[in-house]
Amino acid sequence: MNLRPRVIELAQDYRKAHAPLTPERLAGGIGTSLSYGKLPEGKFGALVPEKRHILIDQDSTPKRQRFTLAHEVMHFLIQQDDDLLSDLHEAYEGKELENQLEALCNLGAAEMLLPSEIVDTALVKKGQSPRLVPVLAEAQQVSEEVVIIALAERGPTPSIVLMAGSKPLRVYFSAKHPHIFDRVSRGTGFRRDDPLVVAFETGLPQKTRTTLPNHTVLYGLEAYPQGGRVYAVYKELKN
Ligand SMILES: [Zn+2]
Repeated sequence: MNLRPRVIELAQDYRKAHAPLTPERLAGGIGTSLSYGKLPEGKFGALVPEKRHILIDQDSTPKRQRFTLAHEVMHFLIQQDDDLLSDLHEAYEGKELENQLEALCNLGAAEMLLPSEIVDTALVKKGQSPRLVPVLAEAQQVSEEVVIIALAERGPTPSIVLMAGSKPLRVYFSAKHPHIFDRVSRGTGFRRDDPLVVAFETGLPQKTRTTLPNHTVLYGLEAYPQGGRVYAVYKELKN
C-alpha cells in the first residue's frame, strides 16, 4: 500500500479541476473562506474544518502563503478520503502519523503548484543539483519549499534537499526522499567547519562527502550559495 501516488493523484485532480490556482480558487475549490493573520511562531497556516476556514500567516511572502494554502487544502482532501485516511492510520501512529501526514500534505501541495512533468524535465536537463531550487522557483513562480519537496521526491538518487540561511547558519526548510531515514528539522544549526557554512561564507559552491548535522551517515553533498541562502542536496551514497 503506497500512499504517495494516491496523494499525488488527489493533487493532480484538484489542479486540473481548479486551475489557475489563485489563492481564491485554491480555497474556493474545497468551499473554504480564507483570511490572513498572526500565527504562533513556527506555524504558517491553519485549517479550521468546522468553520470551513483557512488562516494563513500574514508575514510570509505571497509565494510561501500560496504553498501553505495548498498544504492546508491537502489536509482537507486527505481528511475527506476515507480509504486513504484509514490506510494512513493503519500504517502509522502517534508522532510518526503526524510526521507522515505533514509530509504527504507537503507532497500534494508541491504537486498542485509545480507539476511533476516540469520537475522531471529539469532533472533530466540539469541533473540533481541544488541550483535547481532557486532556478525552478523563479521560473515557475513558486516558493523554494515547493521545489525542495519536489526534488527530494523525484530526484533519481534518494536524497535530502534543504535550504539554510541566517548567521549562525540554520536550516530553513528540508525535505527527504521516502527511502531516507535521517531527517533534519527547521532551525538545526551547523558546525563551524561544515561545508554548508563554508559555502555560505565564501560564496563558493561545495561538492564533498559529509554527514547531516547531528547524524553519522555519509552523503554526497552539493551545496550552492545564492542570495543570502545556501541550497543543498545530500545524495545517498551507493555502497
Ligand atoms: Zn499541516
